[in-house]
Amino acid sequence: MSKAKAQQPQVIHKVIMVGSGGVGKSALTLQFMYDEFVEDYEPTKADSYRKKVVLDGEEVQIDILDTAGQEEYAAIRDNYFRSGEGFLCLFSITEQESFQATVDFREQILRVKNDDTIPFLLVGNKADLEDKRYVSVDEAQERAKQWNVPYVETSAKTRANVDKVFYDLMRAIRDRKMEASRQTNGKTSSKKSKKRKCTIL
Ligand code: GDP
Ligand code: MG
Repeated sequence: MSKAKAQQPQVIHKVIMVGSGGVGKSALTLQFMYDEFVEDYEPTKADSYRKKVVLDGEEVQIDILDTAGQEEYAAIRDNYFRSGEGFLCLFSITEQESFQATVDFREQILRVKNDDTIPFLLVGNKADLEDKRYVSVDEAQERAKQWNVPYVETSAKTRANVDKVFYDLMRAIRDRKMEASRQTNGKTSSKKSKKRKCTIL
């Protein structure tokens, strides 16, 4: 028993960071991972991180893929997206272009996952730069509503809502996995319902 306890948790939730260059994907990831604000992370570097966390009392691992827009070939990008169980789609509230770009990211993800209920959060980062805001809360919320996803504003600098976006996404991923396994279990026990049907017939 104690042996099993010492093992790494079996459950891994796979998160992918997407968004234009410079919106803070790396800064947000590093703030979540190491509690520090890294201002000069190599912009072309994609990296993955893994951390043990407690999600509503359950020990799980989060696996974060921080993309860097260097996925020149669509096939490579699609492979990244395919491996994701949930997505944090970032823009910077200080940059309209980055907000527009979220539409393309969403489209690419849906094309690959072929499922518009995939766990996904629209994230407006750099919320500490309120005086340089170019994307209103209203327009971001409007888009999130259209997509039927949550909208959250974060700051990788002040750490505002950083844990929230990762934990909320993990919860969505976990709930989805539970739902999927419930359906699978339903299938295996479908003999019963078949029998019942036969009796009725
Ligand atoms: P990425 O290309 O999306 O990975 O963006 P980075 O994480 O490399 O961040 C780009 C720049 O924005 C860096 O200089 C960061 O220090 C800065 N930055 C990232 N997040 C924030 C934030 O929440 N607030 C502020 N003020 N700056 C940020
Ligand atoms: Mg980066």
